[in-house]
Amino acid sequence: MTSEYPLPFVPSHQPPDENEKEPILFCFWRRELLVTDDKLIPPVHEIDAHSIEAVRTQYLGQLGDRPCYSAELKADFVPPSGFLTQDLRMLFGSLDEVTHALAGRAVQIMEWDRTHQYCGVCGQPTELSKTDRSRICPECQIPMYPRLAPAMIVAVERGDEILLGRSNNFPPGIFSVLAGFVEPGESAEEAVIREVYEETRIVVQNVRYFGSQAWPFPNSLMLGFTAEYLSGEVDTSYDSEMESADFFHVNQLPQTFPGNISISQWLLNAFVEQKKKG
Ligand SMILES: [Zn+2]
Repeated sequence: MTSEYPLPFVPSHQPPDENEKEPILFCFWRRELLVTDDKLIPPVHEIDAHSIEAVRTQYLGQLGDRPCYSAELKADFVPPSGFLTQDLRMLFGSLDEVTHALAGRAVQIMEWDRTHQYCGVCGQPTELSKTDRSRICPECQIPMYPRLAPAMIVAVERGDEILLGRSNNFPPGIFSVLAGFVEPGESAEEAVIREVYEETRIVVQNVRYFGSQAWPFPNSLMLGFTAEYLSGEVDTSYDSEMESADFFHVNQLPQTFPGNISISQWLLNAFVEQKKKG
């Protein structure tokens, strides 16, 4: 007995010979998605009706019985009446979760294709691989894959308190859990310990995996963790990007980013729920 594919979207680099159902097309101008005035993905026949042209397109895979493609619009593209282009951050909530995640995938595939047309070593035009999602230099044989940057994000607990910080590029008054990129050669858990120490001089223990989220701004995979305070006093003076940080009691939390769209909010909500329960 065969089982059904366990996720709503089936990725593939090999387009079907013929599209039986109307495809779903994610068109991007720079990194902004083409949507209708009511912030939905326009049907392909409407895109065609307005003679919107793509520089190049990429096959993504199948959503149910619909083939999905991304497309790069021309640099001088101007949306016709009834359409606009928007950053994916502005489209949380107006696109359903699966479609938003797919748009996040689409923008990264489009961007990878756009920026890997030539070999970075010898300058030859690259070719699309037939075996996987890569472009290959026919001279050097170097494969070029879409970029994906793992980053860790962590809720550090000390009893009923949580460690929150604000980076100097945050809106005024907003705090969040700590985050940072994983460096080559380190595990995600090591990245948690290093980043928390670098940003706040706090030492943590019992680093535990919480969950993850694709974060296409521009190409991160956020790996969420919880950790316990072990030792140290908060000191942000060693990190030029940290404006301030502190432990906050669950009943006296500062202002944080609104909504419930990102793993930083899921971590914070899980902390609050767990403390209010117990
Ligand atoms: Zn080359």
